[in-house]
Amino acid sequence: MANKTPITVAHGDGIGPEIMDATLHIIEAAGAQIEPETIEVGEKVYLRGISAGIEPSAWESLRRTRVFLKAPITTPQGGGYKSLNVTTRTTFGLYANVRPCVSYYPFVDTKHPVMDVVIIRENEEDTYTGIEYRQTNDMMESLKLISRPGSEKIIRYAFEYARANNRKKVTCFMKDNIMKITDGLFHKVFDEIAKEYPDIENESWIVDIGSAKLADTPEAFDVVVMPNLYGDILSDVAAQIAGSVGLAGSANIGEQCAMFEAIHGSAPRRAGQNLANPSGLLLAAVMMLVHIDQPEVATRVHNAWLRTMEDGIHTYDIFEEGVSKQKVGTREFAEAVIARLGQEPQTLKAVHYASAPKQETSEQIERQRVVSKKELVGVDVFLDWAEHDTEKLAALLQQANGDGLELKLITNRGARVWPHGLPETFTTDHWRSRFLSKGTINHAQITSLLQRINESGLDFIKIENLYDFDGQPGYSSVSGA
Ligand code: NAD
Repeated sequence: MANKTPITVAHGDGIGPEIMDATLHIIEAAGAQIEPETIEVGEKVYLRGISAGIEPSAWESLRRTRVFLKAPITTPQGGGYKSLNVTTRTTFGLYANVRPCVSYYPFVDTKHPVMDVVIIRENEEDTYTGIEYRQTNDMMESLKLISRPGSEKIIRYAFEYARANNRKKVTCFMKDNIMKITDGLFHKVFDEIAKEYPDIENESWIVDIGSAKLADTPEAFDVVVMPNLYGDILSDVAAQIAGSVGLAGSANIGEQCAMFEAIHGSAPRRAGQNLANPSGLLLAAVMMLVHIDQPEVATRVHNAWLRTMEDGIHTYDIFEEGVSKQKVGTREFAEAVIARLGQEPQTLKAVHYASAPKQETSEQIERQRVVSKKELVGVDVFLDWAEHDTEKLAALLQQANGDGLELKLITNRGARVWPHGLPETFTTDHWRSRFLSKGTINHAQITSLLQRINESGLDFIKIENLYDFDGQPGYSSVSGA
């Protein structure tokens, strides 16, 4: 390999510097052609008053190298500090979080001896856009956003990941029995894209029963792709039940940039004592080597590491009498891995990396974009109203009927309360009224409806326009309405 690939490296806090030194030492000994550029992130930067935890100059390195190997950092106690991970993820559009959760039985204790699951979590959308409101005295709102291009990118990535890593099945987790439009889209896109990969098995689970099955029988899963929130929770669950929290790495992949890190934190109490296990960061670096197109080096490092695990050479965190052979420190562990470069495991499954998963670019997605015919047919008007007499509210709202728009229903927290409501239904101060027309309307009709609602003395707090797309309602229906 002629040229060295520049990478940006942050040594982090706590055990960070030790595990980073060990990791770089191992991968360079394995022949990694890298040119590390060091940047400072974390506690010291936060305490200097930089709320993002990263110096502006460090961004230049990241923008240049587009590859970030990051050791864990300590977030100082107290508020006002922005998560460096969130900032990096959103700034660079790192849409895919990839977390292999593997058990290393019988060498590392685990409840699930046969587990080799990769969780692929969508990283930019869902309830994580941070768009939240207090709408009334009693009601808070968080927006859940799922887009078609966002779903296409992550789901295609999951299938490409499966193909590049010789995996057999991709499973989708979502909850489209409840969130028919948002999670429904995720599921639909999954089914569409799955058809393009006939060589890979596919299946879908509702996230509740799917998670129960994942926690109980992880050997039934291979690659699992899911929206952000479920993925946030289940990637931790999966790593925990594999018994490998201290051993797991993760990748955050974007079209332009990628970040690789261990999943554990900076373990400040263990810092500076040559105790920490560098395995999580090392396995993250293995993913990085595949990403920068050095798959042979990644294979050598990973197999030597598996062999070291098998030989019972363990740091304190996984050391167990009777199973482990030798308790070692961070540096000695690194030397043990280096001594095994070129070897393969004998009991555990050896790995073989060939190439990084292909990614769909925004341009490719844009080219395939299908635009539906969109017609405005009504409006949901949300109200702050502290009373409980639904008939009274309906009468006030009906005064605003006219100009083609007519009150069709009122719900409270999604439950229909008018017409034909039940007195047993609990109501808050947050109401939704739905006005529909017989045909297409324009925005001016909505503005004058709001004017009339305002004249009825009601406090409207937000509206959602109701559109049909290609003649199909683009809004959820209300049962019984
Ligand atoms: P932690 O992961 O640092 O530690 C949890 C436990 O695991 C501790 O007992 C620790 O000693 C042990 N441990 C963790 N990694 C280890 C390793 N490589 N080798 C041996 N033992 C290891 O979690 P925490 O204590 O909740 O957090 C400490 C700090 O890390 C906090 O400031 C937190 O904000 C930060 N943190 C950073 C990241 C990150 O940078 N990505 C992630 C999680 C937590």
